[in-house]
Amino acid sequence: MALHVRGVLLPDDEVRDLWLVGDRVTFEPVPGAETVVHGGYVLPGLTDAHCHIGIARGGAPITSIDEARELARVDRDAGVLAIRDAGSPYPYPELDDADDLPRLARAGRHVAPPKRYLRDIGVEVGAAEVAETVAAQAWAGNGWVKLVGDWIDRGVGDLAPAWDADTMTAAVEAAHAAGVRAAVHTFSESAVEIMVRAGVDSVEHGTGLSLDLIDLMARQGTALVPTMINIRTFGGIADQARGKFPGYADHMLALRDRFPTVVRAAHEAGVPIFVGTDAGGGIDHGLAAEEMLLLHEEAGMAPVDVLAAASWRAREWLGFPGLVEGGLADLVVYPEDPRADLRVVRTPTRIVLRGHVVR
Ligand SMILES: [Zn+2]
Repeated sequence: MALHVRGVLLPDDEVRDLWLVGDRVTFEPVPGAETVVHGGYVLPGLTDAHCHIGIARGGAPITSIDEARELARVDRDAGVLAIRDAGSPYPYPELDDADDLPRLARAGRHVAPPKRYLRDIGVEVGAAEVAETVAAQAWAGNGWVKLVGDWIDRGVGDLAPAWDADTMTAAVEAAHAAGVRAAVHTFSESAVEIMVRAGVDSVEHGTGLSLDLIDLMARQGTALVPTMINIRTFGGIADQARGKFPGYADHMLALRDRFPTVVRAAHEAGVPIFVGTDAGGGIDHGLAAEEMLLLHEEAGMAPVDVLAAASWRAREWLGFPGLVEGGLADLVVYPEDPRADLRVVRTPTRIVLRGHVVR
């Protein structure tokens, strides 16, 4: 049965009527449709652009498809109706079109250097095998590959790039040749420089960004997914590491402390920024609203820009059209104007996914 929605449509900022027929949006009236929204502020469904459905609480890979379903439902019930999975050790392609789950843009497994990333999560390879591994993981995902750009090097006692610039450039080229986009995890200054210059499509975290690199990202259209929730955990990481690796601990704290300034500068320079929580492992699912509030309160992004970064702009970036004629039937509704007080994003009053009322 068709659904009817009436409210202030964002980003257009007009009271509109729209109809959901199956999984499609139309502005042509559909007689007999059931009205499920009358009033409030209506947005295209939210996106978590950095999330891990395949990593269980605590950091181990999930062991069943039901676990993936369960985690994705937590996000859905918070209004997140599209997810970019930024690396999964457990394949779950059968959920791509699941009727009751968010839309999925998935990377395959993380491509990581040997013994330097989270245990059992990535495919760990030396420089000579990176490009071919990227090509293989492009098939495992559905549009993205995930590279680990840096991690602690215990020999050095600090963050260090996973591979050299030539290897990274070949890795990004291999992704593009396979028809997918490449996302890279980076914390350090050195690795993010290599990766932005290598032409990566999205920088995850990006704590080491300089103003010069931010300008280059803006010119290239390279996206930034800051995951501010994750960066707040750096204090705990530093505490644990301090006994053996004091230089690394200090580095992590310095990166954490300057990060809001980095995100603010990137936004002001015109770098496309998207909301990602890094849920999975140490961070709970369902926290997209909290990441949105951090982007506003700590990085100074205006509420409407945060909403774009979570909703219409993020969906466009991932290829999931919003509330336009023929668009996808995903929406969230808030009782008050989220541009006036962003905190209302914590409490959606209506969630519709693929033309079905979730709440
Ligand atoms: Zn992640």
